[in-house]
Amino acid sequence: MEVKKNQDYIVTIEDLSVEGEGIGKISEGELGNENGFPLFIKDTVIGDVAKVRVIKVKKNYGYGRLMEIITPSPNRVKPLCPVARQCGGCTLQCMTYEEQLKFKRRKVENNLRRIGGLKDIEVPMTLGMEKPWRYRNKAQVPFGSDKGGICAGFYAGRTHTIIDSEDCLIAPEINQTIIREIKSFMEEYHVAPYDEERGTGIVRHALIRVGFHTGQILVCLVINADSLPHADKLTERLLKIQGMTSVCLNINKKKTNVILGEKVVNLFGPGYLEDKIGEVTFQISPQSFFQVNPSQTEVLYKKALEFAGLTGQETVWDLYCGIGTISLFLARSAKKVYGVEIIPAAIEDARGNAARNGLDNTEFFVGKAEEVLPEWYEKRDSKEERHADVIVVDPPRKGCDSVLLDTITAMHPDRIVYVSCDSATLARDLKYLTEKVCNEGKEGEYRYQVEKVQPVDMFPWSAHVETVVLLQRKNM
Ligand code: SAH
Repeated sequence: MEVKKNQDYIVTIEDLSVEGEGIGKISEGELGNENGFPLFIKDTVIGDVAKVRVIKVKKNYGYGRLMEIITPSPNRVKPLCPVARQCGGCTLQCMTYEEQLKFKRRKVENNLRRIGGLKDIEVPMTLGMEKPWRYRNKAQVPFGSDKGGICAGFYAGRTHTIIDSEDCLIAPEINQTIIREIKSFMEEYHVAPYDEERGTGIVRHALIRVGFHTGQILVCLVINADSLPHADKLTERLLKIQGMTSVCLNINKKKTNVILGEKVVNLFGPGYLEDKIGEVTFQISPQSFFQVNPSQTEVLYKKALEFAGLTGQETVWDLYCGIGTISLFLARSAKKVYGVEIIPAAIEDARGNAARNGLDNTEFFVGKAEEVLPEWYEKRDSKEERHADVIVVDPPRKGCDSVLLDTITAMHPDRIVYVSCDSATLARDLKYLTEKVCNEGKEGEYRYQVEKVQPVDMFPWSAHVETVVLLQRKNM
């Protein structure tokens, strides 16, 4: 029997996809197919027996919509958020938090075993949050119109339909007041929201950043114009909110899904925000990357620091360093830290942050890690000069270039600390690093071995997981 769109089936959820969708198979009896036909079904949890409607059919799998839970899984919870099902953000809201941590641990372990070839690796439990709500320090709220009125909130899953909602349970409560003030300003002064289809209207997004340690707030309104009519009135309203430190505009007149444009116009304050991670203070401009979950960032960086095993004597490289967060965190316990990052503005922030914290044992380079490091390496004359004690990498989802991995191993570091936001590319890179036999002269051959792995939950209720890995050099 063929699986058809719009047909209903009863399935038992047996597994979870990497994105956190439940996977259930349409059984043999109904289809005459030996292995069954897998359906990916959002909002379901392993152990659920559910009635699902097929919404999309591909050759070997399909997508289903949950119609009814027939027998709930013991790990199912009622989502706390009233708009959990519509929202494209938190895909795991039907799962107990404990189960999410287990799911993420398993995901990392499976990838390291299957893709990384690390057959016997045991991954410890994901480090989670005590209270996994209101953790995000950054929100990008889309604005649009709905039946003539202004709506602001979030995009429905896989669409650009805006669901009007002021509160988001993973964002600070103050965001509601900010969104309300912006909406009422727009209504009073007839400032139209952006219309994505036609490219008309003005207000596209509100970027809100809150410094969890400092209490500072930055609001940056992304507009489809060169200026905002009655901008002073907006500033006036926002300044009534306690902690408001910077109000600015970001100009984005392109027809694009990219949220921020290049130009920033300051309306009030310094145009950036300050916050702390541990003892280190950071200046963060609207466009710079900054980890969104500050309390778990501290957990992550402490793990990275522990794995780096610094005594104060080491030379350390922090590749993909952003605004220097990990670099400065490590610089307090190292002799010298070099940082490399592709975005020039982030490196400016990094240098400023180093100076602000009196960490003058740091040096930052702008460029691609896979170009900067090999060039630097080529220019050193001796093996001693090329040597680094510890190398930290924290690449974007696509992982590291093999040219970079080759230079890293050639630098003969005692330890490599790999921080990753995508365990599949992490596993691929670990396979490369651990299978490689290195030889850099008189010490003879050596290789790298995975010593420790630690998943950290930076994004509760989503399927993402961050992982820190320690690789140790073994002489052969
Ligand atoms: N370690 C930082 C940033 C990690 S995010 C932190 O924890 O805050 C990854 C960073 O890599 C981003 O800042 C991105 O701009 C940068 N990046 C992306 N591709 C790069 C490349 N090829 N070389 C160097 N940096 C790169």
